[in-house]
Amino acid sequence: MKRLIAGFDIGGTKISVSLGTESGKILGKKIFPSARGRQVKESVRQLKSALSALLEESGFGRRHLLGIGVAVPGAVDPRREGVLKSPNLPSWEGFPLKRVLFKEFQVPVWIENDANAAALGEQYFGSGRGIDHFLYLTISTGIGSGIVANDSLLRGASGLAGEVGHMTVVQNGLLCPCGKRGCLEAYSSGTAIANYVRTALRNGAKSRFFRNIKLSEITGRLVSEAARTSKDPLAIQARRTAADFLGIGLANLINIFNPQRIILGGGVMEHVEYFWTPMMKAVRREAWPLSLRACTVVRSPLGTEVGDLGAIAIVLDQMRP
Ligand SMILES: [Zn+2]
Repeated sequence: MKRLIAGFDIGGTKISVSLGTESGKILGKKIFPSARGRQVKESVRQLKSALSALLEESGFGRRHLLGIGVAVPGAVDPRREGVLKSPNLPSWEGFPLKRVLFKEFQVPVWIENDANAAALGEQYFGSGRGIDHFLYLTISTGIGSGIVANDSLLRGASGLAGEVGHMTVVQNGLLCPCGKRGCLEAYSSGTAIANYVRTALRNGAKSRFFRNIKLSEITGRLVSEAARTSKDPLAIQARRTAADFLGIGLANLINIFNPQRIILGGGVMEHVEYFWTPMMKAVRREAWPLSLRACTVVRSPLGTEVGDLGAIAIVLDQMRP
């Protein structure tokens, strides 16, 4: 009998529900906006109807469903039954997600932090296959990671391992959304790249590309475009600076974890012009040469599917013998 897995990738702005096979073939997918505010129940209702529709469209029934993997943007409670803390989706905090979904579908449900889920996606379907020691980092609005050591996900004492975005890289540095100062995320995320350009323009820097653009409309993606298409010197400088800090962060991780591979995903990694070379230069400058020799740094081959495949991989990871 065909065995299927459902993946729920819950994001701050959208939710993706996918139905896939054990080998990572996505049979169908539905995307809808996440309900903001106090409407977690509305999102759960949509999750239920999206999965029911996907099962029907695929020609399979609920009896083919092996389990549901749920990737959430935040900290999962230690018993992994729901969301403990999520700045992006505060209304989900404390909601008994696992129990509600189990009641509806009568199949095992597992919840995982989204960066951890993405690392599992790489382990089962991407660049982490056949590798016992690797890190997956997403460089996006923020910076998150999942760490695989000795072939299994490193969770830490209370499930919070892998918050590499909040390693301090500058003493008394820029303010991070987490409330601390000098975090890697405040220097190398897409948000940080946009902030760099905004601050420079406010301080009188000149840029032909950004001349007629409102400060509030500057994003990491736009800075990437300015560097690639217009070779805008300010945009290039912003990306090179962010890349240098990321290289320092990666070198720290290489020195601490001695991984075989570091896999980089997320929006900032969609285009690597004026980013990859300065990042690797910093890695070579800061990493311990012996550890660096054992490690390769690569881009995620899963691209935009990493969220769906990660959610599906949560189930595979739980069911492995
Ligand atoms: Zn921080």
